[in-house]
Amino acid sequence: MEKKNIEWSKLGFGYMPVDYRFVAHWKDGSWDEGGLTKDATVTISESAGVLQYAQTCFEGLKVYTQKNGDIVAFRPDLNAKRMQDSADRLLMPKVSEEMFLRALDEMVKANAAWVPPYGSGATLYIRPFLFGSGPVIGVAPAPEYEFRMFATPVGPYFKGGVKPIKLLLSAYDRAAPHGTGDIKAGLNYAMSLYPGDYAHKHGFSENMYLDAATRTYVEETGGANFIFITKDGKLVTPKSSTILPSITRRSILVVAAEMLGMEVEERKVPFTEVKDFAEIGLCGTAAVISPVGSITYDGGEILVPSGMDSMGPVLTKLRETITGIQEGTIEGPAGWIHKIC
Ligand SMILES: *Cc1c(COP(=O)(O)O)cnc(C)c1O
Repeated sequence: MEKKNIEWSKLGFGYMPVDYRFVAHWKDGSWDEGGLTKDATVTISESAGVLQYAQTCFEGLKVYTQKNGDIVAFRPDLNAKRMQDSADRLLMPKVSEEMFLRALDEMVKANAAWVPPYGSGATLYIRPFLFGSGPVIGVAPAPEYEFRMFATPVGPYFKGGVKPIKLLLSAYDRAAPHGTGDIKAGLNYAMSLYPGDYAHKHGFSENMYLDAATRTYVEETGGANFIFITKDGKLVTPKSSTILPSITRRSILVVAAEMLGMEVEERKVPFTEVKDFAEIGLCGTAAVISPVGSITYDGGEILVPSGMDSMGPVLTKLRETITGIQEGTIEGPAGWIHKIC
């Protein structure tokens, strides 16, 4: 198969439509078979649940070309399960793991020419999403739904590669206690745009959010979880019922404990402790791990000891191990790599 003529290493993180996407419809209590389409547009009622009351959730995962040429996804079963949790909370019909993985396999195979080659630094980003397509006018779950999955080739998430970034301690909250912070709902992102824009205009890459109830403990950023490395080499990550359960973070914890022999703690992290860590990273599918160089708060700036020039040694080791597993140069735990073709 001939690859598309794209300068893979120069790609940013943006949307570029590819040949095929998957679509399935839910009506009268069940999903149809679903299948591929070349149509990149969606036609729905003007009164669709997604348009009126934001009834929608999404996922994000990446497809890689491994060193041996295999095209694979990283733990897509966990994306399927997480989308079911999101669907439950938003009263949407669940997409079975079977349909989710079938959509992924069919769609990626049909778009194989768009999967960036091994060693290019680029990947094929996969965006599954589910939304209320049928009409509502009173506040109620929609009578019909659409599940879609498209792909787009992407380069590194943060411009300038893995240079440390500056964070702002946000004056806004991301997620209410007992709210929707633990699901991947579009609404969590709509309300983060304003604080995100404020941070960007003031020279920061991202916001750090604290817990909304007490504004004492670290939660996450708009789209990535935190991992902290203590001065004695322990990995600490915030435990909270209002952060999104990142698959990257869950994988890093296993790699740290089982492959690198590190001590790992999942617990509440007071903001007052942040100044004591040796390295700070953000983790998520898009960025894998991004190093944090500084955090500005009302009254000061925390300069992370690993500095503003490069990623610290422990995060570097973790990132190399995770990306090595994804690219097939390091053997990871059983079942983590889903071979597509
Ligand atoms: C998607 C997301 C993450 C990262 O999750 P991964 O499964 O690692 O990609 C972290 N925080 C939020 C708010 C997210 O939406």
